[in-house]
Amino acid sequence: MERISTIAAISSAQASAGISVIRISGSEAIMIADKVFQSKSGKHLSEMKGYTCMLGAAYDCGDRIDECIATVFREPHSYTGENVVELSCHGGVYITARVLRAVYNAGAEAAQAGEFTKRAFLNGKLDLIEAESVMDLISSRSKASLRAALQVKEGALSRRINAVKDNLLDRAAHLNAWADYPEEDIPAVEDNSLREALKTAKTELTDILHDYDNGRVLKDGIDTVIAGKPNVGKSTLMNLLAGYDKSIVTSIAGTTRDIVEESVSLGDIVLNLSDTAGIRETKDEIESIGVNKAKTRAGSAALLLCVFDASSPLSDDDRDIIAMAKDVPAVAILNKSDLPRGLDDSIIRESFNEIVSMSAKFDDSAETLIGAIKRVCAVGDINSASTLIYNERQRTLTQKSVNSISEAIETLHIGLTLDAVTVLIEEAIEYLCELTGESVTDEVIDKVFHQFCVGK
Ligand code: GDP
Repeated sequence: MERISTIAAISSAQASAGISVIRISGSEAIMIADKVFQSKSGKHLSEMKGYTCMLGAAYDCGDRIDECIATVFREPHSYTGENVVELSCHGGVYITARVLRAVYNAGAEAAQAGEFTKRAFLNGKLDLIEAESVMDLISSRSKASLRAALQVKEGALSRRINAVKDNLLDRAAHLNAWADYPEEDIPAVEDNSLREALKTAKTELTDILHDYDNGRVLKDGIDTVIAGKPNVGKSTLMNLLAGYDKSIVTSIAGTTRDIVEESVSLGDIVLNLSDTAGIRETKDEIESIGVNKAKTRAGSAALLLCVFDASSPLSDDDRDIIAMAKDVPAVAILNKSDLPRGLDDSIIRESFNEIVSMSAKFDDSAETLIGAIKRVCAVGDINSASTLIYNERQRTLTQKSVNSISEAIETLHIGLTLDAVTVLIEEAIEYLCELTGESVTDEVIDKVFHQFCVGK
């Protein structure tokens, strides 16, 4: 049998910080840590129970490196399911690297990207869906995406998938038993009840697939373009949303010539904002490059924030912006509400479902705007969806399973043999097993975990 090595890595961020954590996992973790760590009390880690910690110091070949705390986890009650020791030392990049080197010198091997979580998966601590959600947890940038990743991590999606799979397994078992043991007293397979069961499974998986786009919005953010003619307050709005000055705000028209990008987290949602050059007719060659870029970007946006100057009359450039917003989810912002009103907004009211009057310069918050954005992007609905699928691997396998079930329903419908239906149901089950990681090839496992960072 292949010997499973004991691995180590820095599990905290590689930057100066209050503390850093060096994680060691494997059957020899405690023995290796004992070579590096000397407790103040003189007690050895090997004498300690799981879930306990001790104060002491880390040493490399007799040289004291730093004071640290060692926490012991005994198998199977650890993140990986193996013996684990976590050494928490002061967070300097140099200190952390030295402690890690000492751990390597004592016999640990360098952990590969995602290897701790991979071991947790291989030891049955997590299924593959839950393991993938660990990565989503780490990279969560908004409350809603964190909440959704946590739900998946705690098994909400796996439970839904497993319920479908168990129902299909019952049906497949019955079909097989009936076909293989005709002499036994096994109740006949009823076409109608089988069809109903298959339809229910298909509906449940299709519902899960529907949530995929919502999951992507939570995870990756909404590609948002701030559009408007020059000087309406686009950069000021961007700065209000981003919370600090990023683009140069000036009162000379046409100064934001290129595209400024910023990812901002607004509570439940993340907007990937592009503040573009003011869109207007121009003869200035450089400006017109910016204007064209802005138009292209606006055309591919998932959300347009169309800014108008409420203190001046609607112009032809404004009408261009209104036309651009026709086919894209959009919010109209009537900016400069602090100034006397000069805008007749009747055309805007006809063209936009969501209109927000505000002063990007003087308002302290953008709550009303955020509310309108959530309505336009239907983000409110996302929060209730607790079991989102997040990645392409999960989506493809769920879709393949739905396809097999659809084929099984069709096969039943045209009256082919139940053998053919059984094969298709088993195929649908196989895809679901691959999804949760119950039956999955080593290549797929490696691919999933390689997307992780080292130390997780
Ligand atoms: P952009 O060209 O659309 O990006 O416009 P800027 O954000 O650069 O703003 C142009 C000018 O309008 C600047 O002088 C801003 O201070 C001013 N401005 C922006 N928003 C407001 C607002 O809500 N009220 C007032 N009074 N001025 C604003």
